[in-house]
Amino acid sequence: MNREEQLGRVRDRSTPWDILIIGGGATGVGIAVDAASRGYDVLLLEQSDFGKGTSSRSTKLVHGGVRYLEQGNVSLVMEALKERGILRENAPHLVRDLAFIVPNYEWWEAPFYGVGLRLYDILAGKYGFGPSSNLSREEALARIPTLRDDGLRGGVIYYDGQFDDARLLINLAQTAFEQGATLVNYCRVVKLLRGAEGFIQGAIAHDEESGEEMEIRARVVINAAGPFADGVRKLSDPGEAPLLAPSQGIHLVFDRSFLPGDHAIMVPHTADGRVMFAIPWHGHTLVGTTDTPIQEATLEPMPQEQEVEFILETAGRYLLRAPQRAHILSAFAGIRPLVRSGEGKNTAALSRDHTIHIDRSGLLTIVGGKWTTYRNMAEDCVNHAETLGALEERPCVTRHLKVHGYHRKAEKFGDLAVYGTDAVTIQDMIRTRPEFGTRMHPRLPYCAAEIVWAARAEMARTLEDALSRRTRALQLDARAAIEMAPRAATLLATELGRDRGWVTAQVGSFVRLAGGYLVGDADARQ
Ligand SMILES: Cc1cc2nc3c(=O)[nH]c(=O)nc-3n(C[C@H](O)[C@H](O)[C@H](O)COP(=O)(O)OP(=O)(O)OC[C@H]3O[C@@H](n4cnc5c(N)ncnc54)[C@H](O)[C@@H]3O)c2cc1C
Repeated sequence: MNREEQLGRVRDRSTPWDILIIGGGATGVGIAVDAASRGYDVLLLEQSDFGKGTSSRSTKLVHGGVRYLEQGNVSLVMEALKERGILRENAPHLVRDLAFIVPNYEWWEAPFYGVGLRLYDILAGKYGFGPSSNLSREEALARIPTLRDDGLRGGVIYYDGQFDDARLLINLAQTAFEQGATLVNYCRVVKLLRGAEGFIQGAIAHDEESGEEMEIRARVVINAAGPFADGVRKLSDPGEAPLLAPSQGIHLVFDRSFLPGDHAIMVPHTADGRVMFAIPWHGHTLVGTTDTPIQEATLEPMPQEQEVEFILETAGRYLLRAPQRAHILSAFAGIRPLVRSGEGKNTAALSRDHTIHIDRSGLLTIVGGKWTTYRNMAEDCVNHAETLGALEERPCVTRHLKVHGYHRKAEKFGDLAVYGTDAVTIQDMIRTRPEFGTRMHPRLPYCAAEIVWAARAEMARTLEDALSRRTRALQLDARAAIEMAPRAATLLATELGRDRGWVTAQVGSFVRLAGGYLVGDADARQ
């Protein structure tokens, strides 16, 4: 994928696109894959980088959602469990099985969660990842030696999926591109264009790099702007009532010593009735999340003080060594694009189903859902778009469409496993230029070739793109990401044809941004 080439396609276009998608998160990119693979002419515009919104800030679980089962939303759980199985089939280099243990400290927990998780297995049917079972105290501690043993009675083990959200998003963007879609990052839709009868016919897009404005015509315009979807709807009609009740969730990342094995912890009921996970991720321990209603979505939401305290306090109840603020390597926040339910006081109880809404102007908005169900959401959305845009009806083919990088035994590539088949090309780069094989930081598994690859093949445009969403350095260890920033920026500058001034500016803005991820490090935030 090359941004200049993609932009050239937009400039050269003289006829309307079949479908214009606003937003390059899981929802928008999933729609681009679906629509392009049906043979439609598709353009996707993302105002920032692909995945800059919620889709790089999830808990990284491909799951049915045990909590939704408790809420009685059986159809959502079944749909998500099926999609979980399909995603593992189509992107095995990025999705893996993960064993979760629900620790039991009360007598009723083993039978209660045991039965609930057996139902979870049954709902997965042929898409199951493995049967759940009850564990004795010794069995639970053998699997997670860092579990608090004081009062522990045993546990329930069950299986779900884990992935790398931003990596999957980039691979999906590449898949859409290979299917013929045009995708441009750093290109914001600033205006929606209406025809004589008042229906949306296109948009004005602003190239955030050059400042150029482009007029785009399309038969259907899809608003997949996630937490920003109401803002896009207002471009069409400022009087539109909001669809969303956004809610923020944060994660804290610690080193591997807090969860040294390959099992995760699932806490089904925190002190305030939420679900919390501690999971091993890329050699670190990821803990989250919260559910805090917020007024307005921003591109770089900040963890709130009480959210950090809440996660530290909850983790401390379940881990032998309670993590302290100074142990936090990175903290990041994401915003759920939840659909309003009327009164809606408690966002934890709001619907996680997706919603398709068509405004009077013909703008098709899709919001809600989960990462796990992106494929199914896309299928539903393109079916609606076919009707709305009077497009020739064509069947969805994504059920068996392999995601870019597809590889069944990617673990053989070691630290490059997340690249799937692309790992071979990256290894070749290192063979030709051995200096590309050097590590970027002693605490992180990334090498210089990955930064170069990000610019060459994955449309990374900024230092943040390379360190946050192509590699995951910023989310794993913000201090290490800051320390590798000057070298990474220099590598990027060579690839992108930028000068020293660009390097200095990129490092400066990245260090400012990364300061927000250093919640354990008060000095860094000043
Ligand atoms: C804390 C948290 C944990 C989660 N954990 C999980 C999990 O473990 N598993 C799971 O399945 N789901 C999870 N989810 C849900 C999942 O992450 C979201 O449902 C999904 O990422 C939403 O994707 P999206 O594309 O709708 O939104 P986004 O990813 O936010 O994408 C919308 C994009 O639209 C762009 N945009 C906005 N306005 C414009 C404009 N005018 N022009 C161009 N572009 C524009 C934005 O920049 C943004 O990139 C979690 C969510 C949160 C918040």
